[in-house]
Amino acid sequence: MTKIRTRYAPSPTGKMHVGNLRSALYEFLIAKHEGGDFMLRIEDTDQERFVEGATEIIYRTLEKAGLKHDEGPDKDGGYGPYVQSERMKTGIYMKYAKELIDKGEAYYCFCDKERLASLKTEIVEGKEIMIYDKHCLSLSKEEVEANLAAGKPFVIRQNNPTEGTTTFHDELYGDITVDNGELDDMILIKSDGYPTYNFANVVDDHTMNITHVVRGNEYLSSSPKYVRLYEAFGWEVPVYIHLPLITDENHKKLSKRSGHSSFEDLLEQGFVTEAIINYVALLGWSPEDNCEIFTLDELIRSFDYRRISKSPAVFDIVKLRWMNGEYLKAMDFDVFYKMAEPYLRQTLKKDFDLKKIASMVKTRIEVFLDIAEHVDFFEELPEYDVAMYTHKKMKTDSASSLKVLTEVLPLLETQEDYSNDGLYRTLVKYVEETGCKNGYVMWPIRTAVSGKQMTPAGATEIMEILGKEESLKRIRRGIGLLQNA
Ligand code: GLU
Repeated sequence: MTKIRTRYAPSPTGKMHVGNLRSALYEFLIAKHEGGDFMLRIEDTDQERFVEGATEIIYRTLEKAGLKHDEGPDKDGGYGPYVQSERMKTGIYMKYAKELIDKGEAYYCFCDKERLASLKTEIVEGKEIMIYDKHCLSLSKEEVEANLAAGKPFVIRQNNPTEGTTTFHDELYGDITVDNGELDDMILIKSDGYPTYNFANVVDDHTMNITHVVRGNEYLSSSPKYVRLYEAFGWEVPVYIHLPLITDENHKKLSKRSGHSSFEDLLEQGFVTEAIINYVALLGWSPEDNCEIFTLDELIRSFDYRRISKSPAVFDIVKLRWMNGEYLKAMDFDVFYKMAEPYLRQTLKKDFDLKKIASMVKTRIEVFLDIAEHVDFFEELPEYDVAMYTHKKMKTDSASSLKVLTEVLPLLETQEDYSNDGLYRTLVKYVEETGCKNGYVMWPIRTAVSGKQMTPAGATEIMEILGKEESLKRIRRGIGLLQNA
């Protein structure tokens, strides 16, 4: 059996958005599931789209995401160079283009801009496409040579038949047959000498021994032309898996422009790598048992590309948030604290026990950015409405709250031990002595010390964090508000 070899082949054009990450992840999983190799190839032949620094983003993202490549520009595996502009310098693309010319499967084209502009166009998938009329195919060998000798600019085009059909197989879409008459004579080598993606992907995937190609289905319509190239060379076509589009909640295409969809943006928003990877894996793939939480190792074990679905995947941020929350709950506390600390410090400037606060919010937040809204009241008591003291279930209202706060104030003033346990004991004693319910006492106290309806902890835990002076200040303020109500 041949060893599985997959490749992630990004163009360095900007941030790595979720769609790119999914291709990389699936390529990685397909290879690792079978003990194969996962390779990184940088496709930088489109000089106009090249963005400075984008290659670094690719390295950084793969590393952070845990998608370690076995081969790539920084790791030679014997199939280099791994950057297309460097491959070009070896003359590989020209060599194969000339081989096609010799076979009659490609030809030089010297048509200038004006002539091309005069050719008829067709609308294909919403884009205006120029249909080349094979004008230069009729040039004699001598004419071609004279043009080349005169240094006339040229491109090399694929020579597709005008009759018959071409069939290719995609793992998700099955067999696809197209009329050859629909295949334009696409450019293989551009006038600047660079290969087009259309040509380079075939030459590279073959010469780098790639067995499985995973990419977005925007390449599906060009694939018959790639298959014709494979056949012209007599090469074996790799397994093709064209992934369905990822859309946003409005079923619009996710774009690099919508900031929330790049891997690094998601990290910045407080999502953790494991949750992002887990979520992205499920954008178009599901395991047999519909289990949802997977570590990367578990994904490697379970990933069967035959279970990828061809229906569009919706990037649902609500689901991702939920999944992230599950990861935070399960996370080791020290790891959690290390990640949460900068977010805590952003909101809490005073000298608090941040570890205790972190343990209060760990099971309550979905992303780190949620921390602020849960803990901001520690820093400063918010303005709040006295109506909050009224709670049906706790059987409290303004009058009962005023009574409770006034009665517990002297107890809390004389209390020295401001630990959660110490405070709890004192308040429970008061509850027992007065014969009322726990919530009847704790609700107004918690309201007074937090100014919030929802808090990540109970009254005594909050007071422990605030300390005696601040707790008393807040209770007195509560009494003042209730008296004036
Ligand atoms: N360079 C192409 C892109 O970034 C890669 C497509 C492929 O994987 O073949 O879209």
